[in-house]
Amino acid sequence: MPKFVYDFTEGNKDLKDLLGGKGANLAEMTNLGLPVPPGFTITAEACRHYLAHGTLPAGLADEVDSHLAALESAMGKKLGQSDDPLLVSVRSGAKFSMPGMMETVLNVGLNDESVHGLAAQAGDERFAWDSYRRLIQMFGKTVLDVDGDLFEDAIEDVKRARGAGSDGDLTADDFKELVGRFKAIVKEQAGRSFPTDPREQMDLAVEAVFNSWNAPRAILYRRQERIPVDLGTAVNICSMVFGNMGLDSGTGVAFTRDPASGQQGVYGDYLQNAQGEDVVAGIRNTVPLTELERIDKASYDRLLEIMETLENHYRDMCDIEFTIERGKLWMLQTRVGKRTAAAAFRIACQLLDQGLIDRDEAARRVTGDQLAQLMFPRFASRVDGVTKLTRGMNASPGAAVGKAVFTSPRAVELAGRGEDVILVRRETNPDDLAGMVAAKGVLTSRGGKTSHAAVVARGMGKTCVCGAEELDVDVKDGHFTAPGGVTVREGDVISIDGSSGDVYLGEVPVEDSPVVRYFEGELTEADGDDLVKAVHRVMGHADARARLRVRANCDTPEDAARARRFGAAGIGLCRTEHMFLGDRRRLVEELILAEDDEGRKAALDALEPLQKQDFEGIFEAMDGLPVTIRLIDPPLHEFLPDITELSVKVALAGDGADAKDRKLLEAVTRLHEQNPMLGLRGVRLGLVIPGLFGMQVRAIAEAAAARRRAGGDPRPEIMIPLVGAVQELEAVRDEARGILAEVAAASGVDVPALIGTMIELPRAALTAGQIAEAAEFFSFGTNDLTQTTWGFSRDDVEAAFFSQYLELGIFGVSPFETLDREGVGRLIRIAVEEGRRARPDLHLGICGEHGGDPDSVHFCHGAGLDYVSCSPFRIPVARLEAGRAAIEAAEAASGSGTGGSDSR
Ligand code: PEP
Ligand code: MG
Repeated sequence: MPKFVYDFTEGNKDLKDLLGGKGANLAEMTNLGLPVPPGFTITAEACRHYLAHGTLPAGLADEVDSHLAALESAMGKKLGQSDDPLLVSVRSGAKFSMPGMMETVLNVGLNDESVHGLAAQAGDERFAWDSYRRLIQMFGKTVLDVDGDLFEDAIEDVKRARGAGSDGDLTADDFKELVGRFKAIVKEQAGRSFPTDPREQMDLAVEAVFNSWNAPRAILYRRQERIPVDLGTAVNICSMVFGNMGLDSGTGVAFTRDPASGQQGVYGDYLQNAQGEDVVAGIRNTVPLTELERIDKASYDRLLEIMETLENHYRDMCDIEFTIERGKLWMLQTRVGKRTAAAAFRIACQLLDQGLIDRDEAARRVTGDQLAQLMFPRFASRVDGVTKLTRGMNASPGAAVGKAVFTSPRAVELAGRGEDVILVRRETNPDDLAGMVAAKGVLTSRGGKTSHAAVVARGMGKTCVCGAEELDVDVKDGHFTAPGGVTVREGDVISIDGSSGDVYLGEVPVEDSPVVRYFEGELTEADGDDLVKAVHRVMGHADARARLRVRANCDTPEDAARARRFGAAGIGLCRTEHMFLGDRRRLVEELILAEDDEGRKAALDALEPLQKQDFEGIFEAMDGLPVTIRLIDPPLHEFLPDITELSVKVALAGDGADAKDRKLLEAVTRLHEQNPMLGLRGVRLGLVIPGLFGMQVRAIAEAAAARRRAGGDPRPEIMIPLVGAVQELEAVRDEARGILAEVAAASGVDVPALIGTMIELPRAALTAGQIAEAAEFFSFGTNDLTQTTWGFSRDDVEAAFFSQYLELGIFGVSPFETLDREGVGRLIRIAVEEGRRARPDLHLGICGEHGGDPDSVHFCHGAGLDYVSCSPFRIPVARLEAGRAAIEAAEAASGSGTGGSDSR
C-alpha cells in the first residue's frame, strides 16, 4: 500500500511529484532546522486516486489519524480542543506553482467552544472571533460553494451599521455578530449547517482542495502554462501561526535577490498585524521589508540569516513567505523564485562567481526565450501627449514607433526616404513581405498569434501587434479608426508595444537593446553593463558545449552579414524565390509566357546574370562558410498577377483588352491550382520547366568561380526542394552535375558544390535510405513536413481554427511553432537513421522555422542532426539552446542532473 501522508520531517525538496512544490520545500526547510510550523502533507497521489475514483484511497484516513495524533502530541494540544485549540491551515500545493488557482482554508478547528479557548489563550476576544468568521467564510466559499459576495455583503452591512470605515474598526462583538450571520448564510445556501466537528472540517477541506484541481480557472491556467492535467495537487496541513495578534505580529514576503533586476539586497514587503490574505486583499499598504529592521530587529536579523541559508542551500534565488507571531519568526513557504529575463542572466553569473554553481548549471538557469526577450527594443517610459488607442495581441515583442502606412509599396517608399513606418493592415499576406521588411513594426486588426503577420514578424525579430479588433482599418482610404472615434491617417505617428499589445497615438521613446548592440558588435563585452557581461559569459560557455551548429535562413548579403555577426556558421537556407520579385517579376512572366525554346532561353538568359550577382554577394558575406542555396520552390503562378483582378481588368476592357493581358490571363488560368501547396512546385517545377533549375545552378557555379578568382572561399551547397522520390532527385542532380562540370571547364576554376535535398514530405522521410544514395545532405523542411504530415494547409488552418484547437487542448502549442515530436519528429528520426545507414557521412540539418525554437533545438540535438538553421535574429537563441541541449544530454547520460532550477 503506498504511503499517502508525509510528516514535514519526512520529505525533501526533490519529492515535488509526490508532495507538490510547497510540501517538498516545507519539508526541506524543516530538515534544515528552520522554524516551520509543524505539519504534514497528503500526497498528490492520494489526490489522483480521489479524482479518478471519486473516493479517498483506502488507508488514507488511518494515516491522517496517526499523523494528526503525532502533530497534536508535538504541539501539546488537540485539534479544536475547547480550552486551547490546535488550529491548522489546509493548503493546496501542486508540483508547479499555480498562484491563486486552488484553495486554502485557514483556522480549521474553531467552533462555538474553541473560539473561547482561543480568545483566552490569545488574551484577545476580537482576534478569536475574527479568526472564526474567517474560517466560516473561507470554508463556506471553498468547501460548500457558497457565493463569496454574500459574506462580503454581510461585512459591509455591519460596517455600515457601525459607521466603521474599515475591517479594523470592527469590534469583537461585531465579529460575533458576523459569525452568526455567516452561519445563517451557510445554512441557507448550502442546505447544511457549518460543521462544528474539527476533524470533519479538516477532512472536508482536504476534499475541497482536491476538487479545486478541476476548477475551471485551474484548468485554464494549466492549459496556458502547459502543466499536465493529471498531476493532481498535494495538500499541506500545517499548524496555524498568526500574524494578526497585535503590533508585534505581521506577515511578509521576501526575495533573496531582486526578481526584477537580479541585484543582491533585501527585497520584499511586510504588513504589521495582518494575515497573508490581508496583503493580497490590499486592505492596508505594506511597507518595504527593510522597515522590519526598525519594527522588530531580532526577527529581521533572523530572517536575513535564513535567507542566506536558503540561497546557499538551494543555490538559487528564493522567494519566501513568513509570519511573525508575537515576535517569533515562522517560515510558511519558500521556492526557487520567478524572475525576469535580465535577472535570470545576472543571477546565474552571480551564483557562478560565488562558486555556488558551475558554468554548465549557469547555462541551464537561463533560456532561449529569456534571451529573445532581452533582444527586443523596448519603450523607455511613457510620456505626456501619448494616447493609448487600444490593445491587440502581443504577437512579436519589442517596441516600434513610426508613421502609419497602409500598403506595402508605401512602406517601402517612405522607408526608402529614411522614414520610420508602421505597416498597418487588416491582415498581411506574402505580398506584404517587402513592406514588413521596410517597416519598424506591423499592426493588424485581424488574426491571432499564428497569423501570417505574427509568424513572419517573429521570424524577422520585428515588433508586431496583431488582431487589434477594435481598430477599423480602411486600407483603400489610408486610415484607421480607434474606439472613441479617433482617426489615424497615413503619416500620423503611432507607437506599438509588441510585448503588451498596446497601441498608442504619438511617439513613445524607444531604447535599443544593449544585448542586440552587443551581438551586432557595436558594444563590446567590456563596455557593456553587467547584463551584457552576463550574456557574453553564458553564450561563450554555450558555444563551447554545443554540438549542433547554427546556420541562418537568409537570402541577402545584408542579412548574411548580420547572421555572421550573430554567430552563424553558414547559411542553411537561401530561398531563391525572393530573388524573383520586384523588377524581376517581369522576367518570370516572360519565362512563363514564352511560346518556344528561344523565348524561354531569352528569359532565362536575362535572369541568370542577376542571380549570379545575388549569389556573389552572399558568398562574399559568408566567405569560408557553407551556403545552402535552395532552387526555386513556389508555384510559378505566385509570380503572376492575381487571377480575379486580371479577369476583371480584361473583362472590363472588353474588345479593347491588351493582348499581353489576355495572354497573361490565359497563363494564369492554365497555372491556377486548387491546392498550390501540393501542386506544381519544388522539384516538380525543375523537371517540368526546362532550363529553370539549370539556370540557377549555372548562376551558382559561375558566382562561386568568380568569387574564387577574386581570392574568396565560396562554399556552395545546392538544395532541391520538395523531393518525394529518389528518381526526381537523380534527374535534377545529374543535370546539375553536368552544368557544374561545364562551368568548371569553361572557367578553369573548379569549386566543389554538395548536392542535397530537403526532406519535407512524409514519402521522402520514409524512403530516406534510397534518397540518401543520391543526396550528400538532407535538410528537414519542417514547415512543409508539418503541413503534409498533419494534412494542414498552414495559411488556411492557422487563422481558421488553431485558436480553438489550442483551447480544446488538442495541442498545447502550434506544431508550426514547436516541432511535433511524436509525428513529425518520428519521421525525422526515421529519415536520420535510414539516411545515415545508406550514407554514413550524410550531413543533416533543419531549416524549417523550428530551427529557432528552443524546444525544437533540443529535439534536433537528440535526433543527431549536425545543424539547425533559423532566421538571423534567432541565431543567438539557437546557439544558447544548442549549448543547453548538449549540457542537458550530458547530464542525463551521467545521471548527474542537479534539478537546480525548477521554477516555471
Ligand atoms: C520548409 O518547408 O520547412 C521550408 C524551409 O521551406 P519553405 O518554408 O520555404 O516552404
Ligand atoms: Mg518547404
